[in-house]
Amino acid sequence: MREPDCLFCKIAAGEVPAEIVREGERTVAFRDINPQAPTHVLIIPRDHFPDAATAGRARQGLLDEIAAEAEEIARADGVAGNGYRLVFNTGTGAGQTVFHLHGHLLAGRGLEWPPG
Ligand code: 5GP
Repeated sequence: MREPDCLFCKIAAGEVPAEIVREGERTVAFRDINPQAPTHVLIIPRDHFPDAATAGRARQGLLDEIAAEAEEIARADGVAGNGYRLVFNTGTGAGQTVFHLHGHLLAGRGLEWPPG
C-alpha cells in the first residue's frame, strides 16, 4: 500500500537514497537529512499512512512497533541511557511537512521542554 508521489514511500522502497539504520518487516528507520540532534532518526511504516492519527486507527500495534524500534535504535546509538524523545508531528500546525507517518527519534543532547 503506497502512494506514487510520496518521498518516504520511495525511501522505504529503496528508490530514493537514505542512510538506513534499521529495517523491519513493517518499518524502516533512516537518519534525518537535516538532523536536529546528534541522533535524529525517522522511523516509518513501509505502508503509507498520512499521519499518526490515521495509522493508529487503521493498523493496530503499528505505533507500538515504532516505539519499540526507537528504543532499539537509541540503544544501538548508545544514547538510550540519557533519555530520548519520540515525536509524531501530526498536522501542518504541529510542523508536519511530510505526510507519510514518521516518528522522530531525537537524542544525544539535552532536550528542552516544552518544545518550540
Ligand atoms: P516533519 O516536519 O514532517 O515532522 O518531518 C519531516 C522530516 O523529514 C524533517 O525533519 C526533514 O528534515 C526530513 N526529510 C525531508 N526530506 C528528507 C529526505 O529526502 N531524506 C531524509 N533522510 N530526510 C528528509
